[in-house]
Amino acid sequence: MNEFELIRQYFARQPVVRRDVVVPIGDDGAVLDVPADQQLVVSTDTLNAGVHFPVDTDAVSVGHKSLAVNLSDLAAMGAVPAWFTLNLSLPHIDPPWLDGFCQGLFALAREHQVQLVGGDTTRGPLAISIAIHGFVPRGQALLRRGAGVGDLVYVSGELGDAALGLLQHTGKLQLPEAQCAQVLRRLHTPTPRVREALALRGLATACIDISDGLVADLGHLLDASKVGAQVDLARLPLSATYRQQLPLLGWEGALSHGDDYELCFTIPLVRREVLRHVTQQFACGFTCIGVIEAQAGLRITDDAGQPYHPAAAGYDHFRVS
Ligand code: ADP
Ligand code: MG
Repeated sequence: MNEFELIRQYFARQPVVRRDVVVPIGDDGAVLDVPADQQLVVSTDTLNAGVHFPVDTDAVSVGHKSLAVNLSDLAAMGAVPAWFTLNLSLPHIDPPWLDGFCQGLFALAREHQVQLVGGDTTRGPLAISIAIHGFVPRGQALLRRGAGVGDLVYVSGELGDAALGLLQHTGKLQLPEAQCAQVLRRLHTPTPRVREALALRGLATACIDISDGLVADLGHLLDASKVGAQVDLARLPLSATYRQQLPLLGWEGALSHGDDYELCFTIPLVRREVLRHVTQQFACGFTCIGVIEAQAGLRITDDAGQPYHPAAAGYDHFRVS
């Protein structure tokens, strides 16, 4: 199979066919209709084998996660996803791997009605780079900047299970069967909070997705908003599994590991009741973990009211160790 047969077999036919795609895969570029009253939001993320996922991750999960991390970025902007491109670097053509990859990728694409409209296929170390495009009504994108003093800080879902998943995957933790499956799911097939984020438009003052850990990503939101925050460890939403492991593993998995792909956002105190109603629509839930303060920086308090200093502040690809 050559490059062109590969594209034809795996990527030219696909489950989602949108009416706003005028020229799909097959030409030098895609031609797309952008609604007049909307703004286009674009985001891109790369997954490198051995960096963003363990090299022995199954292909279905790699396909899912490649799109999920991009959907998560678009969600954090409050955008409705529409189209994506796929730049694929493959060491060789491996049909069973490609079958699995497409299965994971297109199942999530179908769920969110996003269409693959182009890409590039090259030979090299396994790496998947997706660029995703979506829409927001003019002026309504959720941004990192905008958090105000006194706003409440929330996170969606639960934090830290992806960290447990990695420990489990690499044999450093042996959880019972059901818990094992759950944390591996959280690591390999994260759920982007797309619908949840749309419900936050007009409600949240600032928003970010947690890809590099709460400390790092809330830190970015605080910097962009030129404020600080106080967060209580006792309020962090943890799964029952994480809570069980807490005495052994500590808080770092929930604070700094990343890969959770939950949302972190702020809302003014007066919108608290509205948010409570919104929360009821979503199984993942939203949890208030702290408050925005004028003093710059993130202050974390343990359950005894003492300052807690996290060890690491998220993943940095170019950190000198
Ligand atoms: P060119 O040489 O003009 O860049 P390519 O041969 O790379 O064209 O691609 C041919 C068509 O296939 C283009 O429409 C391109 O967007 C699409 N394509 C190539 N690789 C992928 C991929 N991995 N996923 C989706 N579409 C792809
Ligand atoms: Mg090309």
